[in-house]
Parts: sequence; structure tokens; C-alpha cells
Amino acid sequence: MKSIDTRCVHAGYHPGKGEPRQLPIVQSTTFKYDTSEQMARLFDLEDSGYFYTRLQNPTSDSVAAQICDLEGGVGAVLTSSGQAANLMACLNICRAGDHIIAANNIYGGTFNLLGTTLKQFGIDITFIDPHAGEDEIRAAFRPGTKLLFGETLSNPGVEVLDLEKWARIAHECGVPLVIDNTFATPVLCRPFEWGADIVTHSTTKYIDGQGVSVGGAVVDSGNFPWDRHADKFPGLTTPDESYHGLTYTKKFGKAAYITKVVTHLMRDLGCTQSPQNAFYLHLGLQTLHLRIRRHSESALKVATWLKNRPEVAWVHYPGLEGDRSHELAAKYLPDGCSGVMCLGLKGGRAYDERFLDALRLITIETHVADCHTCVLHPASHTHRQLTDEQLRAAGIAPDLIRLSIGLEAPEDIIEDLEQALGKASEIPLLP
Ligand SMILES: *Cc1c(COP(=O)(O)O)cnc(C)c1O
Repeated sequence: MKSIDTRCVHAGYHPGKGEPRQLPIVQSTTFKYDTSEQMARLFDLEDSGYFYTRLQNPTSDSVAAQICDLEGGVGAVLTSSGQAANLMACLNICRAGDHIIAANNIYGGTFNLLGTTLKQFGIDITFIDPHAGEDEIRAAFRPGTKLLFGETLSNPGVEVLDLEKWARIAHECGVPLVIDNTFATPVLCRPFEWGADIVTHSTTKYIDGQGVSVGGAVVDSGNFPWDRHADKFPGLTTPDESYHGLTYTKKFGKAAYITKVVTHLMRDLGCTQSPQNAFYLHLGLQTLHLRIRRHSESALKVATWLKNRPEVAWVHYPGLEGDRSHELAAKYLPDGCSGVMCLGLKGGRAYDERFLDALRLITIETHVADCHTCVLHPASHTHRQLTDEQLRAAGIAPDLIRLSIGLEAPEDIIEDLEQALGKASEIPLLP
């Protein structure tokens, strides 16, 4: 297998003689056939081929294949957003009456999806401290538990998940481990190598890298033995009447799970990526290996600088020696920990606001993980309706500032932070 750098550039699209060197955007909803029989075979899943872009499109498929190659899976599908990717990953094997166990430090959007919306669908959820002992996590399992969910690098806390430990627990309990690998990207960590079964992405972040297109992906390792736990996963292991009684595991083997995402969930729910946005992702993927290493290097420089500043109460960045996730990062993220960090300042909320307002190069955005350095203070922005106590209950320190280091020169980022800290310090620090 070629190195990941080469695969970022080449995987997924292999033009033949006289075909476009660049990935073509197939801007077509539908595809032409000559006989009724040809079309019928597609609908019976007897032949593979394109018929409607809600299910599959050649541009999107090339990009899905590119991400699949980087992650080392057997199949992948692009989705309209990262939210849709996590929704598809769960709904593909969970139905009303089932149960999910997820790390309690995951992205707020996923926390709401699992904790509120899927709950309203009748799928129950237990959030668990990812650092809890194995016995404690195992004790959360029920007969109806269908998957274990976590993030390689949590958003916004940037804690590293102990992937091997979580995979071991999931497999002992007969369920797949689903990992949201958004911040790490497959360049920094490939969760399948540590036992994860399904990987999801918000491609909106580093894979796009320029902040131009919302998207997601679901990738299947092909490793989970669905038939060994057939009673738990009837959607994969018993006949699907909406496809004339075919059984996914029998017909598609290792690709059963991902085929069902396309042929069942995309058909019925339509959370499809557009060919145009898939093309933007392809551009991003071709430089992902260069960018994510630079993001990581710059973030380590900035985090090291921040840690030594008197105005800074704390910094979490797994690349920092002594960080709560440093040991796990050394194991799972040896090539870098992405550009995202979080920090708290000593001065209190008014100080935080003065600091944010004084930034010039660094912009205030709800976005994260692209080429522009940006910052967000959940207590004053995304979570501003909550009291400090409610924030803590939601796992967000009221003073937490999320800083996403872009591709500018790290010296310029540090200079901006320095002048903003100076301006904010014109009001006295709290003792
Ligand atoms: C942003 C994000 C999502 C949601 O992705 P969207 O593309 O915004 O829908 C999911 N998981 C993580 C870790 C994220 O950072």
C-alpha cells in the first residue's frame, strides 16, 4: 500500500485513457438505460450501476472511495452533513426500543442528536465518562444495546479516546464501535487499525479545509461479524422485504452494513451529498496530509506559548506534555493532534469578552478546523442561554474558549493573541 500522502492525492479516482485528469462533476440527477431489463436489475440490486443521485452519483462515489481508502475500509458513503453521517451510522442498526452507549464528551450536535432526537424516535441513550473503568462501561450495556459511540478527539474538549479499550468492550458485548474521526482525520489516526468498526466524519472540517461545504461520511471497516450476532441486527441479517427479501449479509458479505446505508437509508431519507460539494471535498482531500500536519505543528507552538502566559488559567491540547490526554495521544496520534485546543483565562467572563473583541487576525466563528484561525466562547455564543451551572452540567467549563489554529504563520497567530491579552488586561485580573 502506498503512503497516506500519495493516497490523499490519488485514491478514489483513476481516469482511463483520454478521460479527464481532474475528477469530473457529474451534475446529473439521473442516468440513462436502454432496456427495461437493465433498469429492473438495478432496482433488484442484481447489477451495480447508477440510477438516481439520491442514492449514488459517480462524483460522490469517487470521493467516498477516496475517504474509504484513507481510512482502510471496505466501503463508504458521503452524506449531506456530519450530523447526517452520525444519524445514518446509528439508524442503520438501531430501531425503536434499542439502546446506544456514547461517550459523554462528544460534540454538542451529536449529544443532542442522540440525547434528544433519537430518544424521541424511541432509541434510548446512556452517556458515559470515557475514562470510566471497563467494568463500569460494561455495566451500562443492556440486551438492546446496539452500538458504542465516541470521538477520536472530542469536540471541544480535545480529549483522546482510548480506542483499543473501547473496541475491546464493544466486541466483548457483541456490538460495533462507531468512531467519529472528524478532528483527527485519517492522516493522523485510522480508528479501524485500533479495532473500531464504523468511522464517521464531518467533512465540513479538515477534509474540506477551506470552510466552503457542509458534508459528512460513513465508512465501514467490513470487520464486524453481524451474522455472529444475528439476533441483534435483524436489519442486516434477515430478509429486507423492500428489496424482494434479500439479506444484506448474505448478498453483500463484508460490505453489508455500508450497502444498507446506501440502498435503504439514502433511498428513504435522502441525506445525500451533492456532486458539486463532493468535488470540493476532493480538492480538500488532495492536500489534507500537508494541511493537517501544519495545523498540528502550529497548534503545538501556540499551545506551548499560551501555557506559559500569566493570563491563561489552563490549556488543553493533547500534544502538550503533561496534558490529560498526552499519553493516549502518543499512542493514537503520533503525527500530531490537529489544530484544535481549548483554554481558560483567569480574568472571568468580562475579561473573556474583551479578549475576544480585541482579536484582529483571529475571527469569532462557530466553525472550527479550517485554514483560518478562529475562536469560540460557548458560554457567550453557542450556549449563551445557559447559566454557569447548566454549562458545567453540559460538560462545558464556563470559561472554556475553543481555539482552532489555521494555516497562517504561527508567529502571527501568537502576536494577535498577545496583543488581545494585553488589551483585555487593561481591566484587572480576578485574584
Ligand atoms: C462539526 C461536527 C459534527 C457535525 O458535523 P456538521 O457537518 O456540522 O453537520 C459532528 N461531529 C464532530 C466531531 C464535529 O466536529
